[in-house]
Amino acid sequence: MLIKTSKETTSDQSISKEIPTFTVKRTITGLGLFTLKPFSEGKRIIEYTGKIISSDDKKEMSGRYLFEISEKLAINGKTRTNLARYINHSCRPNAIAYLSGRRVWIWAKRNIKAGEPITIDYGKSYFDDYIRPIGCKCEKCVKKLNGTSGKVVSQQRD
Ligand SMILES: [Zn+2]
Repeated sequence: MLIKTSKETTSDQSISKEIPTFTVKRTITGLGLFTLKPFSEGKRIIEYTGKIISSDDKKEMSGRYLFEISEKLAINGKTRTNLARYINHSCRPNAIAYLSGRRVWIWAKRNIKAGEPITIDYGKSYFDDYIRPIGCKCEKCVKKLNGTSGKVVSQQRD
């Protein structure tokens, strides 16, 4: 049997170096994940990676980066290598998280331009626990604020 192997050029590592897809930047709600290339609707953007933990471990950990994948299991996305942890909440998000087995992937909900922040809807329980107390600063909510009071109080957090 003939096995075809892909021919790789190893000589010019610097030239073939991949262009980064994402960048992490400061936003009014802390750090956010911005894409450097466009994604069309329905395309897979990034995986939410981390250690899978059971509900027993969960109690000992801060819930901010926990992504629940079942009633008893969650992904702890606290690690720095998990770029998807920088995706902020939006009430009108441009992306959505789907579970695939025990893996969580973020998909484009609409066409996303290069330079846009990636946002997902974190869901009601996260919103009530972490966002409602400080007030939502997503684009939609800030616009609403602007419309009524004309003044936005920006609150920095890290
Ligand atoms: Zn909002």
